[in-house]
Amino acid sequence: METVFSKIIRREIPATIVYEDDLSLAFLDIFPKAPVHVLIIPKKPIESLEHVQEEDLPLIAHLFSVVKKVAAQTGVAESGYRIAINCGKEGGQEVPHLHLHLMGGKQL
Ligand code: AMP
Repeated sequence: METVFSKIIRREIPATIVYEDDLSLAFLDIFPKAPVHVLIIPKKPIESLEHVQEEDLPLIAHLFSVVKKVAAQTGVAESGYRIAINCGKEGGQEVPHLHLHLMGGKQL
């Protein structure tokens, strides 16, 4: 599904990218809810956690390795951070492209 995040992956709209590899991208949330608020996404356009297939599980594991890299890079690895995944309408998901919110830099 085409979303604002697909456009960020293709560099069609700007974002502050903090990490990228073949499978994933991490960039600053445009409306941060904490001093550190990074979105970590697979480049594969998986709509939500509910749309993850068995074959995607290595990719999901990879995203968590990216979490650790980005947490270290943004200085919250030791102080701590929160990972949130909103799923579907009542879960508060607005962008239908799976993403992990990494938030930290204050007491949550
Ligand atoms: P969710 O509600 O879990 O779908 O979260 C979507 C997140 O994407 C929100 O925190 C938005 O602030 C963020 N967001 C939407 N558009 C952009 C954008 N162009 N660049 C960076 N973050 C965005």
